[in-house]
Amino acid sequence: MLGKRLLVVSNRLPVAVIDNGRKRLKPSSGGLVTALNPILELEGGLWIGWPGLGKSDEVMPLADEHNREHSYSIHPVPLTADQVDKFYLGFANQTIWPLFHDFLGITSFEREHWEMYDEVNRIYAEHVAEHIQPDDFVWVHDYQLMRVGYHLRKLGVKHPVAYFHHIPFPSPDLYRRLPWARELFEGLVSYDSVGFQTLHDRRNFVALARDRLTSARFRIRRRQTIFDHQGHMVQVGNYPISIDFDEFSDGARSKEVRRELKTISEAYRVEHLVLGLDRLDYTKGIPQRFLALERLLEKYPELRGRVSLIQVVVPSRTKVRAYADLKEHLDSLTGRINGRFGTHGYMPIHYFFKHLTRPQLLALYRACEVALITPLRDGMNLVAKEYAASSVDHRNVLVLSEFTGSADQLGKGALLVNPYDLEGTADTLRRALLMEDEERRRRLRDLRAQVRTNDVHRWVSWFVSALSDARRNREDRQGRPEAAGDGGLRDSVPLEPSAHVPETYASKR
Ligand code: UDP
Repeated sequence: MLGKRLLVVSNRLPVAVIDNGRKRLKPSSGGLVTALNPILELEGGLWIGWPGLGKSDEVMPLADEHNREHSYSIHPVPLTADQVDKFYLGFANQTIWPLFHDFLGITSFEREHWEMYDEVNRIYAEHVAEHIQPDDFVWVHDYQLMRVGYHLRKLGVKHPVAYFHHIPFPSPDLYRRLPWARELFEGLVSYDSVGFQTLHDRRNFVALARDRLTSARFRIRRRQTIFDHQGHMVQVGNYPISIDFDEFSDGARSKEVRRELKTISEAYRVEHLVLGLDRLDYTKGIPQRFLALERLLEKYPELRGRVSLIQVVVPSRTKVRAYADLKEHLDSLTGRINGRFGTHGYMPIHYFFKHLTRPQLLALYRACEVALITPLRDGMNLVAKEYAASSVDHRNVLVLSEFTGSADQLGKGALLVNPYDLEGTADTLRRALLMEDEERRRRLRDLRAQVRTNDVHRWVSWFVSALSDARRNREDRQGRPEAAGDGGLRDSVPLEPSAHVPETYASKR
């Protein structure tokens, strides 16, 4: 597909060190691993990232063992506890994560955290520079590593380097609040190709670039916005990440899942099961979901005793204060609502704080006739896509927040809600519960077709083709002395005036 070696850089490796008396590597699950494993196994490659635990002399032999057994290699970047604390828990998760999800009020701005973020990004870049081969494509992932491209250029790396941003990108107005806005922006425009989940995120970034690069000219070619910066071309596109449709659709019919389904149907003797499934995160709108359910039971007494929400919260970042606070808030909300509407044999909310096995996850997707997915902001939300793919009984209904990236693709088949509007969410949930079979089937057909067509393999191929464009641009420029610098670029590429951007683009800027 690529014809060149892919060098992937992400905060975490596709394996993690676990320690049960003896340290060993365990494969990680998750969208990125599912997406990139097939291409790496097929074409070989190198994945650079943090293994999660262990010092260099402990993890290097484990990596060597992995590399002997697989067709692609991993290279661990060991980090100290202090680096993890300030770079990952600090800047990545207490500055960028809340700010980019519109939670300005709980964003922390610590200079020390920023400095460590930049330092760790430089360390990642040094590992890349040390292991890169002449024809490699470099693909950097996510908000923890926005400055790696900048440091690679400083180290003299001239390869095409792409970056994919998995979380939302904020409006220029919100972005400006960051005291290190200039440095981070400089990091992003060091990449040849920058990918976002949605057109909305891409627009926010391009609007920022237009504000900051007043003399650059912007044009649109092959679904990408292109501009030149300090002698190199930056391509910006939107490529929604997805799932392996067949893995979920086939997996949901397996024997293990059928066994779990039986357990669920015996445990919950209620007419309507609604699913909530999220990592513990204040962006996921879990309290709003509980309150919308409470509103439903208040407003429609005939539904009391007939609807239960199964809410699974997967533990995450509990060392960060805002996450620990959210956990407490959820415990108390559950108690209050169950105390108010629960009876012998009926609980409005069944709340679990734990990880699920894959069969348990798929069985819940199948068993719950409605998924109520209410993030206040979410880059994509893969749970929505997994639910659609696993709904093999053709009767499930997806209620989805309009503030998720997934709403862009699933908006026609799902019932969209604004999670801040509790009354509206409660009414939409009722509509989902009462929906006729014919409408359920029609909507689900649409959802499943969307996820099947735009699956994770398509996401990879979009990005790989953007990467190939980036390489061509770089080779063109490096091969032609007159093309070095802005002047050369402007002579070689006809630039569209901004008035010619497509209507959808221009109207929302
Ligand atoms: N998931 C998981 N363990 C669980 C339950 C769910 O790994 O116990 C997975 C789920 O299948 C999905 C991912 O976690 O692939 C959540 O992705 P999403 O995009 O919805 O949210 P994120 O956690 O990335 O913000």
